Amino acid sequence: MKRMNLNGRPLLLLLSLWILVVPTGIVYLLYTQPIPSVNWLWVGVSLLLGFLSIFYPIIYNRKPIVLFVWFTLPIFLMYGLTIELIMTQLIIACAVLARLKTGDVLYRLLYNSLAYFVLSVSSAVAFFMTGAQIGELTFSILVIGVFVYQIVYSVLYDWIFKLYGVLTNRMRLDSLKETLLHYFRMVIAVPLALSLYFILIHYGVIGYVLVGIPFFFMTLVLRINRQTDDLNSYIQAAGKIGQQLAKMTTEDSVIDEFMTKTATLFETDYVYLFDHYDGWLEPSHFYMKGRKAEVPQVRLAKGQGIAGKILSEKNSFLFSRREQWIQQTITPVPDEIESLLCIPLIRHQEIVGVSILGSKKKDAFKDFHLNVLDLLSSYFIVAVEKAAYIELAEQESNRCALTGLYNYRFLEQRLEREMDFLAHGTHKQLAVLMLDIDHFKKVNDSYGHESGNLILKQFAKLLQNKCPEKGIVARYGGEEFVYVLPEFSMGAALEFAEELRNEIQQTNMRIENDLSCLLHTEEIRITASMGVSVAPDDTDEAMTLLRNADRALYLGAKKAGRNRVGSYVK
Ligand code: GH3
Ligand code: MG
Ligand code: MG
Repeated sequence: MKRMNLNGRPLLLLLSLWILVVPTGIVYLLYTQPIPSVNWLWVGVSLLLGFLSIFYPIIYNRKPIVLFVWFTLPIFLMYGLTIELIMTQLIIACAVLARLKTGDVLYRLLYNSLAYFVLSVSSAVAFFMTGAQIGELTFSILVIGVFVYQIVYSVLYDWIFKLYGVLTNRMRLDSLKETLLHYFRMVIAVPLALSLYFILIHYGVIGYVLVGIPFFFMTLVLRINRQTDDLNSYIQAAGKIGQQLAKMTTEDSVIDEFMTKTATLFETDYVYLFDHYDGWLEPSHFYMKGRKAEVPQVRLAKGQGIAGKILSEKNSFLFSRREQWIQQTITPVPDEIESLLCIPLIRHQEIVGVSILGSKKKDAFKDFHLNVLDLLSSYFIVAVEKAAYIELAEQESNRCALTGLYNYRFLEQRLEREMDFLAHGTHKQLAVLMLDIDHFKKVNDSYGHESGNLILKQFAKLLQNKCPEKGIVARYGGEEFVYVLPEFSMGAALEFAEELRNEIQQTNMRIENDLSCLLHTEEIRITASMGVSVAPDDTDEAMTLLRNADRALYLGAKKAGRNRVGSYVK
């Protein structure tokens, strides 16, 4: 999202506007409407409650709602605009400074100060326009005045902060529910303010206790309620992530999903994953701000570092700030990390790894986050295990056990697919190169079957290393191999084959001669014959293409003396 350039002209403009309005306005007010003799205890307690309401806001939809009008309004009703305005400015400055999470503090400070200045003055003007006065005691007049005060306040507030969203490019259209909730605030503020005002006038400072206790108690109940709501929503989110993980079929994709989704769920920037083997822990994955980052090179024994402590104590840990853990850590960690959430990954009562989340915020994690992460990690472990199993099964069904190359089954499928691509125009041409080792029987006869196998393995490795990026190489059978080369013309394939043939005849192959009395290692060289056919020139049918290559191999290379490349001719 594009953010406003806060250091440029807008900030200067705002600063000028602020100087012009806020300090000037306050000085003007102090002269024209000086603060009458006030009960400083009441002002002090109101201020205190104001600061308190900043640190204990009502939380709705994970957003704090600071409600302080109900104890600044009685001060206005008793002593007028000037003192109320100064009080509000102090509370607002404190609220902005208490949430120093982003860099644009000055901008927010100025904007909020200006906004609340306008709110205080406009609502006060509206109040006086109803005919109500400072120190008003006639109930009906006061109710109407306060009601109008609050309506003006709420509407302006709504507009001003929508404008703020537009200015900072952080405009989120609030749902109707949220807007209604915003207006609903005055339903709480108006009666509370009126009650406090009357009780203060009649019974003094005890009014704060009578009105304040139920208010803060309600805040507390809402908070407790919110925690269970939070827990439920976390568990739900974890369940969804679990379902996603269960669908994945590769270990890498499971790990990637776990790392990124966990970071998002807990709003963290750093996720570490340690693997455990033979009593050692090593970081295997590290994600920073949603991306894979370089994994620190360390090895931790039981009890070493935080991960090692988890291994020895089989416990989860939660840290709220850096001082609590920085002494214990061995792994290099980014300077800005404050809070940590650390859990062991357990499978069949054994620790298979450790997961650590880091946040740059202090107190970023709650106790129940440990349980949610634990739940998530159990989904994760099952998913990794399943994915590894699927990968292995796939590998076994697609690959040849001796050489690790693709097997005939896979070759057949791939070739059919390539032919489809050809038919749909995704590829324009396709070459198939078939190879057969020359006189391989002799290798077996002279050096034994085991040595023959050893040669096949080295030969396969050579073929794999030479395989072009887009192509694949498979073991067709015994000592026969096939390259499938998309986008290769006959010319390109022949050139590739010739280069390969050369490389093969110059490569030393290690064998272990088990037929002589003493087992010893020797090096021999082999050659291979090859045949090339291309599609769609020679055929547009997969099996025919293979047969053609075979014919080219037999007629063009073997019959012509071996160690050469033949091309298919119709
Ligand atoms: P050429 O191809 O040059 O005509 O002669 P060749 O001796 O290679 O003959 P052919 O291709 O007909 O024979 C292949 C031999 O490869 C037969 C078999 O003994 C051997 N062979 C096939 N599969 C394996 C294997 O998995 N391991 C070993 N060691 N040998 C194998
Ligand atoms: Mg053969
Ligand atoms: Mg052969």
